[in-house]
Amino acid sequence: MAVLPLNYYDLTETFPAGGCVVCSLVERDVHRFLDSHLYEYVNTPETHAKMRGSRGLCATHSANLVEFGASVLGITILHAAIMDELLKTAGEPTRASSAFGRLRGSSGSSLANKLEPDSPCMACAALERAEAQHIGTIAEYINDDRLREAYAASAGLCLPHFKQVLRAAPDSTRADTLTQLQLPKWKALKAELDMLSDKYDANHNDEAVGAEADSWRRALELVSGKRDVFGVRRST
Ligand SMILES: [Zn+2]
Ligand SMILES: [Zn+2]
Repeated sequence: MAVLPLNYYDLTETFPAGGCVVCSLVERDVHRFLDSHLYEYVNTPETHAKMRGSRGLCATHSANLVEFGASVLGITILHAAIMDELLKTAGEPTRASSAFGRLRGSSGSSLANKLEPDSPCMACAALERAEAQHIGTIAEYINDDRLREAYAASAGLCLPHFKQVLRAAPDSTRADTLTQLQLPKWKALKAELDMLSDKYDANHNDEAVGAEADSWRRALELVSGKRDVFGVRRST
């Protein structure tokens, strides 16, 4: 048997845990990335250069650092370096600061352009690498018994990740397997949502609510994906 990629085992173990497996693993991978860069790599020249160039992290990943209780010292050191970079960049003479530039009113936008990042947020880049690996492994190995059974035991992929694995499927056989695995998840959830809305109906308000009680919450994630995975893209 060919050597399986390392994340194959992460996928088979995490699939049945509930929620979209790609969202869950990507979230875990990005948290680990942030953690290691704020502890192990905070003083490496490479981290400093990247953080100076990218002008820090995007707003979501910066907020994550606070939420995860990242090292205050790590954040402090890196942001002192970013401030130093911004001051240096703003202090450099520019062509637009000449009399001609001022007359054309372009000195503001010239400085704004110099302050633009030269690379994306490091954590967003880590997120996209992790996501591509997990999507690629699911698409490639979905006809492998263990992975297929793990998917069958799961709540299904969120809609954006389901579309990604479908597009990454190397052939129609694997695309068909993915579809046969995902559609029953939607059917089951729809039945739970219907049951819940019936019970909210005034005519049935004495019926006890069962496992479908949190189906609306699961539906939010199954349709839109996790906030920390899909709420962070700063491509515009
Ligand atoms: Zn997802
Ligand atoms: Zn980011």
